[in-house]
Amino acid sequence: MPYIYISIKMMKKIGVLTSGGDAPGMNACIRSIVRTAISNNIKVIGIQRGYQGLLEKDFIEMGPRSVSNIIQRGGTILKTSRCEDFKRWDGREKAVNRLKEMNIDGIVVIGGDGTFHGAKKISEEWEVKIIGVPGTIDNDIYGTDYTVGFDTAVNTAVEAVDKIRDTAGSHDRQFIIEVMGRHAGFIALEVGMSCGAEEILIPERKTLIKKIAQRIMEGKISGKTSYIIIVGEGDEEGDAFEISHKLNRITGLEFKICVLGHIQRGGSPSAIDRILGTKLGIWAVESLLKGETGKMIGEVDSKPHLTPLEDTWEKKKSIDDRLMDWLKILSL
Ligand code: ADP
Repeated sequence: MPYIYISIKMMKKIGVLTSGGDAPGMNACIRSIVRTAISNNIKVIGIQRGYQGLLEKDFIEMGPRSVSNIIQRGGTILKTSRCEDFKRWDGREKAVNRLKEMNIDGIVVIGGDGTFHGAKKISEEWEVKIIGVPGTIDNDIYGTDYTVGFDTAVNTAVEAVDKIRDTAGSHDRQFIIEVMGRHAGFIALEVGMSCGAEEILIPERKTLIKKIAQRIMEGKISGKTSYIIIVGEGDEEGDAFEISHKLNRITGLEFKICVLGHIQRGGSPSAIDRILGTKLGIWAVESLLKGETGKMIGEVDSKPHLTPLEDTWEKKKSIDDRLMDWLKILSL
């Protein structure tokens, strides 16, 4: 296999781990990292269970066949975990010693902003060569148009909401459906738009309960047979249950509630997530070989884009305001 990239200091061995919440498409990314590195004559060590596995030396050597038949699988073959020890200096020191013992020249970490906080610290404190890949269903990471896992999570939720719409329409019912996303409304917004929801409640926009109640009553008068409200889990007016109580007090109507929960995290990744995971995996290895470190590789306008790790959580990715404005027209 040819060398595709020439690095400043030749890397001989890299590590890869997945950390924090799992997301569909992580396996496609692992596969791409392993095979890109091996085609550049670089050995790959799989670090299992994220930073916890790094501390405990839970390592496996990975070859091209160890990532066979995984591109279509949800979750992460390397497993993931949350590791409190890594938040302490001595925990991180131990982890870095593990990398040194194994002669690992650089690592790729796939995860969300928590993972990147940890990555930033070891890149600064011990100059570990490190590149982050955004793997989270929430899409709440600055520096990339989309994160690995977001598209699949949206599609899973859309399928569920479509089914709920069928029953809501048959019974003339109002449904409140809560989707994931933590403090960000990206999932809620795209699910709501895709399903023709009447209302979308997201943390980035103030939720006006009285106005929503008024629109529901107007909808009844105009002949609406079902009413779907999508709530992002971080909305400031509360979760689906609290919002249902508030709307019930004003309208007197009953609201059925469905919290989609963890089904949004699982399942076979969509083609978009497989391709995004693959591209980011290739670009992550390429970045390490070019001597980049302390950065996240993302995709912006279909091109690779490196962002300093601290910017990924300090800068805020904005939602597409136009969608919220169009919703008012489209839910007439
Ligand atoms: P995600 O990466 O999906 O946001 P978490 O927030 O759970 O998930 O973070 C994953 C792991 O990253 C944590 O279990 C911890 O080991 C590490 N981490 C998170 N925040 C920090 C921090 N401030 N300093 C060092 N390590 C951190």
